[in-house]
Amino acid sequence: MSTWTRGYKILGLAVLIYCLVMLGIPALLVRGCGFDRGMVEESNGRMVRVQLAPGRVVTLPLETYLIGVVAAEMPAKFDIEALKAQAVAARTYTLLRINGKASDRKHPDAALCADPGHCQAWLSLGDLRKRWGLFAFGSNYEKVASAVRATAGEVLVYRDELIDPVYHASCGGRGTEDAREVWGRDIPYLKRVPCRWDPPERQGVVATSFSMKDFFTRLGITGQAVPASNAGDLVQVLDRTGSGRVRRVEIASQVFRGVELRKALGLRSTDFTVSAAGGKVTFYTRGYGHAVGMCQYGAQGLALRGQTYRQILEYYYRGAVMKKLPEAGN
Ligand SMILES: [Zn+2]
Ligand SMILES: [Zn+2]
Repeated sequence: MSTWTRGYKILGLAVLIYCLVMLGIPALLVRGCGFDRGMVEESNGRMVRVQLAPGRVVTLPLETYLIGVVAAEMPAKFDIEALKAQAVAARTYTLLRINGKASDRKHPDAALCADPGHCQAWLSLGDLRKRWGLFAFGSNYEKVASAVRATAGEVLVYRDELIDPVYHASCGGRGTEDAREVWGRDIPYLKRVPCRWDPPERQGVVATSFSMKDFFTRLGITGQAVPASNAGDLVQVLDRTGSGRVRRVEIASQVFRGVELRKALGLRSTDFTVSAAGGKVTFYTRGYGHAVGMCQYGAQGLALRGQTYRQILEYYYRGAVMKKLPEAGN
């Protein structure tokens, strides 16, 4: 056999082994973590009903459901401690709703829905295959599942009651917001805390523009003359919250709360400045989300600095502590 032929054979063998590894390992992992087998025991016996769409409700073991939530709510590439923090927050959020303490009339037949704008996001195995692609699916799924397994049964409590562990994508580096500023009521464990760990690209400013007509329509302001010039005074920030986000603005002699404006215009956050010129209104926002509770990019930053999931959770939810639940039925 010539050196060339032997070289090609070795190359062929190497390609074959590579293909087996790349295709075989994800396939094995997927089979090993199927929804039907093995997970029921890990759910501590608890089941959850989730509305995927109006009239379409599925019943899943709690811990299996949580894998789909963590995978949907946080990038799988995040540090395992950040994923574990997300798993405990998602479990607590879910159990609070299963227990009926925060039930919602939107879906009386299910404890939760899969709409991230209402409850928590959730993705099925099929959705996750599409999101991650065939090659990354097995390892990503196993990583997220291991974060859920490692924290099985663990929840956050305040004075022995489950907390409502709301979270958001990124505070933009400004620190989190006090719940009172967003929902109008004090929640002792949802207070403003500093957060300096969002990566630089999350601390940048994002511009969103609206035509004057669209802007007024979205705010329900009618009969307002579109200012031709000197439009810089169109949106006046009246005051800001303790964290520096917009609390109230005045537009065309009407006062709006920052959170109202964010909702009406679909802004990324209430941490903004405004300019108006050339027939357009432009908002420059920082961060993403309501900014209350755990900052997910901040959690990742803390995990990269060596903090454990327990330290991360107890940092963002001040005064709350972790607790391991007894198995259901005990
Ligand atoms: Zn819901
Ligand atoms: Zn943050």
